[in-house]
Amino acid sequence: MTAVLAPEGAILRRPHAPTLRTLPDAVAANVRRVGATAAVPIMAVVKANGYGHGALTVATAAVAAGADWLGVTDVADGVALREAGLRVPILAWLHPAGIDAPLATAAGIDVAVGSVDELRQLVAEADGRVRVHLHLDTGMARGGCPVEDWDALLRTARATDGRVEVVGVMGHLPRAEAADPRANAAAVLRMRQGRDAVLRAGFGPLLVHLAATAGALTDPSTHFDLVRIGAGLVGIDPSDTVPLAGASRWTAPVVHSAAVPAGTAVGYGSTYTTRVATHLSVVGVGYADGIPRELAPGVGIAIGGERHPLVGRVSMDQIVVDTGDRVYPRGAVATVFGPDGGAVPSVQDWARWAGTIPHTIVTGIGPRVRRSAA
Ligand SMILES: *Cc1c(COP(=O)(O)O)cnc(C)c1O
Repeated sequence: MTAVLAPEGAILRRPHAPTLRTLPDAVAANVRRVGATAAVPIMAVVKANGYGHGALTVATAAVAAGADWLGVTDVADGVALREAGLRVPILAWLHPAGIDAPLATAAGIDVAVGSVDELRQLVAEADGRVRVHLHLDTGMARGGCPVEDWDALLRTARATDGRVEVVGVMGHLPRAEAADPRANAAAVLRMRQGRDAVLRAGFGPLLVHLAATAGALTDPSTHFDLVRIGAGLVGIDPSDTVPLAGASRWTAPVVHSAAVPAGTAVGYGSTYTTRVATHLSVVGVGYADGIPRELAPGVGIAIGGERHPLVGRVSMDQIVVDTGDRVYPRGAVATVFGPDGGAVPSVQDWARWAGTIPHTIVTGIGPRVRRSAA
C-alpha cells in the first residue's frame, strides 16, 4: 500500500475538522414554505438540539423567518433559548426530568400537561401562575391524557386556585405521514371534542394545536390555531409530498490516501476486497459520529465533485472510500450529505441506505462533529 504524499516542499495545512454546517437560509425557506400551505401561526420545534442542527441556530433562523412560537421537550431547553435572547412564546411538553414549575414561570415558558398526576405535581411546586396547555391523547397512546381521564384533568385544573392558567389544548397526529385526511379524521374529531370540553369547563380563550410537519403540509383540517413544525425546518417532510430545502451539509476530511493493488482486503472482517488496482481514501468519521453501520449496497459520498463508493465496514471513527483512479490528498474535503444534489447524497439517501427515516440520520450525528452556521 503506497501512501499518497504531498510533493516535497509543499505547504501543508491542517485538515478541517468534521463539521455539520447548518444553513439558516434553508430553514427560513422551509418556514415560508409551510406558511404558504398553513395559514396559521407556526411553532418552530427545536427538540433534540434542533434535530441535530443546533437548537439556537435553527430557532433563530425560524423566528427571523416568521415563526411565532418555539417548542421544546424540557423547560430547561426553553430556558437556554430565553438566555440566548429569544423572546417569542415557548412551549415545553415532555418533561423527562419532571416539570420545574418555578423555572417555567420565571423564564416565561408554557408547559403542556398530560395527566392528573403531572398537574398535581406542577400545582404543588408552582410559586406563581403557570401557563398550561392541556395535552390530550388523540390516538397515539404515547403521552397526553387518555380521553377517559380528560374530565378528571379538567376538574383538577379548575381546582388549582388560579395557580395554573389554561391557555391551550394540544394533541398529536399518529398517521399524518399517510398524507390522507381520512387517516387524521378520528384525531381531528377527538381534538374538537376535547377542546369543547375545556371550553365548557370555563377555560378560554384557547390556543388549539394538533398538526406537526406532515399535517401542516397535507391536511388543512388539522391546522386549528397553530402548527408545530420540527422536521420540516431542517428539510424533512415525513409525508414525502413536498420537497423542502435540506438545511445542513456534513463534511469530513480525507485523513489518509493510498494506492493499493488488486486483492487488497479493506476494513474489519475483510468484507471487501479490491478487484483491480485502485486508490483508497480514509475519511475521518465513523459510527461514533452517526454514520450508520448497517447499510444497503450502493452507498457513496462525494469527494472532488464525484460520488465514490464506501467499501468495507464502517469503523467507529472512520470509513474507507474507493476512489478508483482519482487520487485525493490528505485534507481533501468529503461531503457525507448536503442539499447540493449531483454527487452529494441527501439525508434522505442515507435514510434509504440505512433502512431508517431521515430524522434518525440527523439526530444521530455525534458530539465530535463540529457545528457551524453559514
Ligand atoms: C416532535 C414533535 C413535533 C414536531 O414534529 P415534526 O413531524 O418533526 O414536525 C410536534 N409535536 C410534538 C408533540 C412532537 O413531539
